[in-house]
Amino acid sequence: MGKLNGKTALVTGSSRGIGRAIAAGLAREGALVAVHYAHNERAAQETVELIEKDGGQAFTVQAPLGAVGDVDQLFQGLEAGLKKHAGNTVLDILVNNAGETLPAGAAPEDLSPEQFDRLFAVNAKAPLFITQRALGLLPDGGRVINISSGTTRTAIPSQTLYAMTKGALEQLSRGFARHLAPRGITINTVAPGITDNGSEIFKMPEVVEQMSQLSAFKRIGEPKEVADVVVFLATDESRWITGAFIDATGGSLLG
Ligand code: NAP
Repeated sequence: MGKLNGKTALVTGSSRGIGRAIAAGLAREGALVAVHYAHNERAAQETVELIEKDGGQAFTVQAPLGAVGDVDQLFQGLEAGLKKHAGNTVLDILVNNAGETLPAGAAPEDLSPEQFDRLFAVNAKAPLFITQRALGLLPDGGRVINISSGTTRTAIPSQTLYAMTKGALEQLSRGFARHLAPRGITINTVAPGITDNGSEIFKMPEVVEQMSQLSAFKRIGEPKEVADVVVFLATDESRWITGAFIDATGGSLLG
């Protein structure tokens, strides 16, 4: 018996990286998982195949966040998938994981209003309105987990805008935590540090060596190491934790 048997979950941005590991972890515990993505349908399908190979259940949902009508598109696909696979539209677990950054960062004096609008739309506005929309589907005892970043607890000038968006996301967790507690719904933040999401930078040994020095363990994180924390927060065992900020940076913030 998995700890999440009979439960349903939506993981935004689970075609790749940390989101894929979260989707796989939730499915391994028995949840039916909606694998959300923006454009990379092949990767989303691969996540579903990985889950099915492991004996789990999943389906894909496409919706580019930050575009007009994004939340409507997401919930149309989600509700259709839930009806098909579970017979109803109950959503027990929502993981707001999809996020964007400025790939090369940006010095504070180079930031543009367009970059501001884009990053806030994807990293803060979308999770707010996804969570709001999910409230009608979440049963008492439901779970919401927001994926932030260790950058909100330190000062990296080139990541200022990104960290601002994640700081907003953390406040979403706190405000909603108090609001939803009467229903037994918990909402928490998990903050990864540098985590190998398979992108090109993680294939460059010198850069990896440099990034490794940030963690107390002197290595970069694996997606499963973040996913394991999220899976715990999705289970009943975490019922006494809400509005929390969980540092999953491998001790990168210890100084
Ligand atoms: P990733 O490998 O870049 O994957 C991003 C995922 O989000 C993909 O599934 C992508 O879908 C989806 N996505 C991106 N922009 C989207 C949009 N506008 N609309 C809908 N879906 C979108 O990401 P990651 O590195 O695993 O990061 C996952 C989360 O952890 C993010 O919130 C990130 O900020 C946070 N984080 C990551 C690290 C790290 O070192 N990796 C560190 C701290 C925090 P497609 O495949 O269709 O593009």
